[in-house]
Amino acid sequence: MAQEALYGRARPKTLAKLIGQDHISNALAQAISGDRLSHAYLLVGTRGTGKTSTARLLAKAMNCDTVRDAQKSGRPLDKKEIPCNKCDACRNFNASPDNVEFDAASNRSVEDVTRMLSTAYLAPLVSHTKTFIIDEIHMLSTEAINSILKLIEEPPSNVAFFLATTEVNKVPITIRSRCQVLNFRLIPQTTIAPYLLRIARHLEVDLHEDAAKKIARLAEGSMRDALTYFDQCYSSGGKEISLVDVDEMLGLISDEKLDKIISAVNAHDRRATADAITVAFNSGVAPNSIAESLITRLRDLEFAKLNRGEKSFAGVDTLVDALRKSISEMYGSGIPDIILEMTLLKLAAPVQMSAQLPTVAPVQPSSTNLDAGKKIFYDVLNNFGRQDDDINHLLKKTVVTNFDGKTLTLGFKSATLANMFGNNRQVEFEQQAAQAAGHPIKISVVVDKNLSASILDQVSEPDRTALADAMNAFGASDATKI
Ligand SMILES: [Zn+2]
Repeated sequence: MAQEALYGRARPKTLAKLIGQDHISNALAQAISGDRLSHAYLLVGTRGTGKTSTARLLAKAMNCDTVRDAQKSGRPLDKKEIPCNKCDACRNFNASPDNVEFDAASNRSVEDVTRMLSTAYLAPLVSHTKTFIIDEIHMLSTEAINSILKLIEEPPSNVAFFLATTEVNKVPITIRSRCQVLNFRLIPQTTIAPYLLRIARHLEVDLHEDAAKKIARLAEGSMRDALTYFDQCYSSGGKEISLVDVDEMLGLISDEKLDKIISAVNAHDRRATADAITVAFNSGVAPNSIAESLITRLRDLEFAKLNRGEKSFAGVDTLVDALRKSISEMYGSGIPDIILEMTLLKLAAPVQMSAQLPTVAPVQPSSTNLDAGKKIFYDVLNNFGRQDDDINHLLKKTVVTNFDGKTLTLGFKSATLANMFGNNRQVEFEQQAAQAAGHPIKISVVVDKNLSASILDQVSEPDRTALADAMNAFGASDATKI
């Protein structure tokens, strides 16, 4: 397959070309120069970080004539010549019967491993050192592991082992303690993206910088994944690869579409949110993938803000938490699109409160402030309630419990009512309250089942205007006195 070909072709030929693992290539170059290589290495790291490539370089270098000559004469070696790739040993390395490669994940039978390991006791056929490269060592059976352990404890002469694993915690401590451990790091995006651009130039492909960055981010530290993604775009695309191409080829949703969803939710615009979700669904990307992309995009936007020294945008934590929750709900569900849609629409509703509702009524406020608060409340209700039956009905159950000049506290008898208000109407109510008061007003909500019934329960809608007017005119301290 083409993608394997590119990854294979891009494998480093010398230690100097090992990308993103300088701590390892530097240490190994010193050890090789000083002829201090170990006979057993445990290469630990996530997939695609260069473990097998490094094992092959070491196996080759152990047999390289140039390297061995330099070791004998004490000439320091440069990373660029480890191995030299020119001597007979280097040129014949791939066909050498003395280099045995073995994937424990696919050949796990004890017989297989025993057969392979038995050759370790025989002298190398053509090389100086016989080398064994075993991938995914943690997948081997206990018996196989014991055979290897025995070989490492009492190694035959001129044999070296390179044991690679993605899960070091599953490798027995007895093996770990007898090997020199090389820890491979995740390769940073800032290393992967320029590397992809270099390869693209080499292939005479115009890979856009933002496209390279997107691939680097998707690769999550794995060079193999990065090259595979790049190859997918390369083999199905033309001589130019843009960000849009990357999204299309890899079945991703574009940042532009994600930003539209995020902006709409942030603006608490449910109509725009619904439209943006529809556009996203129409792009054919799976709902859980959209949710994951939204989280990644939010993280990117957040980091960009941090770098610019800006404040993070409000509600980002709530948004990420809700999306994460929706992803787990989508798993195994037959209606993932609806789950995502409802999650986003709920977030787009004015202000979320749910779990954090205080359940204790506030301290009795001063009556003057409370009057002013009630005045604002009734003013808003006269406008708001007229236009909207739901809010009219809801606010009839509401009691103004406090007002400190800036924050108007509304009391509800149940959390359900409070949530209905918080989820649907709070922001709109705040805007109207600000208009009525002539300055910004924040609404706070409390739940107390012992609250007295709202006066509005007994007041019919036409009378409410009169109530507000009367309060205004007489400065009454309590609506009930009217
Ligand atoms: Zn060589």
